[in-house]
Amino acid sequence: NTIQVLLICGGGGSEHEVSLRTADFIQRELARAPDIHLTRVTMNGDGQLLDGDGQVRELRSDKLLYSASGSAQVVDYVIPSIHGYPGETGDLQSQLEILGLPYYGCSPEASKICFNKITTKLWLSALGIDNTPYQFLCADTPEEIAQAQDALAEWGTVFVKASNQGSSVGCYKAATAEALENALKEAFRLSPYVLVEKCLKVRELEVAAYTYEGELVITPPGEVCAPEDTFYSYEEKYAEGSRALTHVVAEGLSDAQLGWIREASKRAFIGLQLKDLSRIDFFLSEDGEIYLNEVNTFPGMTSISMFPKMLQHQGHDFCTYLGGLIRESVQSASQ
Ligand code: ADP
Ligand code: MG
Ligand code: MG
Repeated sequence: NTIQVLLICGGGGSEHEVSLRTADFIQRELARAPDIHLTRVTMNGDGQLLDGDGQVRELRSDKLLYSASGSAQVVDYVIPSIHGYPGETGDLQSQLEILGLPYYGCSPEASKICFNKITTKLWLSALGIDNTPYQFLCADTPEEIAQAQDALAEWGTVFVKASNQGSSVGCYKAATAEALENALKEAFRLSPYVLVEKCLKVRELEVAAYTYEGELVITPPGEVCAPEDTFYSYEEKYAEGSRALTHVVAEGLSDAQLGWIREASKRAFIGLQLKDLSRIDFFLSEDGEIYLNEVNTFPGMTSISMFPKMLQHQGHDFCTYLGGLIRESVQSASQ
C-alpha cells in the first residue's frame, strides 16, 4: 500500500526560501522509498497551499487535498517543512492535530516553547540546564531600554534577539549604547519580546537528537565556526560565499564535556517532549562552561546543514529514518 505524504514548504515568513531548500532535500531523499508517494505544495504568505502549477490546493477536514477543480486526493501523513512561522512555531501542527493527521516533528506545544527564545530559557532553567545570562524586555519603553543599557555596561558586548525568529533573523551584536538602541528597535519590530544576552567568546556546538527505529539517538556534537569578524549570521548560514565552516565532529572536547552535552541534550529532548527530530545547540565558553543556546525543533536540511550530515555520520540513512517514522505513524493512526 502506497502512503500518501503531503510535503508543505515555504510559509511566507522570513525563512521561506530556506524552507524550500529543506523541502528539496526531503523530497530527494524520500524519492528512494518505493512505498511513499509525495505531493509537494508551497504555502504562501496568505496561508494558501499552491501546487507546482501555482494552483490553489486545500486540505479539508475529511483529510483530502482538494484542487480548484474539485478533485481530491488522500493524505495519510504531512511533513511541515517550514522553518519559522507557521511551521516551526507549531501553528500548522495545531491545524494538523485538529484534522487528526499524523505529521513529522514536534507537537504544537513543544514547537511553540522552543521557538520562543524566552520560553525556551524558562524551560531550560526549570529543567536545570544552564543557559546564557540574559535580560528579558517585554516593551520598547525608556525604562526597559535603560535596563538593557545597564546590562550592556555590565557585559561589555551583548546579543539582542527578537524572541520569535530563527536563522539569525532579528539577531544583532551590539557593543555601544547607540548600536544597542538600534538593535532593540529592529528586534521590537519583529517581536513583542526581546532578549538581551551576554556576548560570550564561544565555540558553537550542535547535536542532532532524533528517533531512529524507536530509539532516541543523541549524536556527539559537531561544530560550526563563524568567521572571526562576525557571528553565525543569516549570510554566513545560507548566502552564496558563506565563510562559515562546519565540522561533523567537534575536536578536542573532554569526556566530561561530551558527557555533559549528551546529558543536557537528553534531558531537553525528554523534558520538552520533543518528537522525531531536533538540533540542540550549545555554546562552549572560553572558560570551559557549557550553555545550551537553543533547541531547534525543525532544523535546516540544506546542503550545508548539520542535521542531515550528523545523521549520515551516525550511519543512519535519512530515507530509512524518515520513511520509518512515516510508516510507524501511519500504521498507528490507522489502528
Ligand atoms: P537563531 O535561532 O536565529 O539561530 P541564535 O540564538 O542561535 O539564534 O543566535 C544566532 C547566532 O548568534 C549564534 O549561532 C551565534 O553565532 C551568535 N550568538 C547568539 N548568542 C550569542 C551569545 N550570547 N554569545 C556569542 N554569540 C552568540
Ligand atoms: Mg533557532
Ligand atoms: Mg541558532
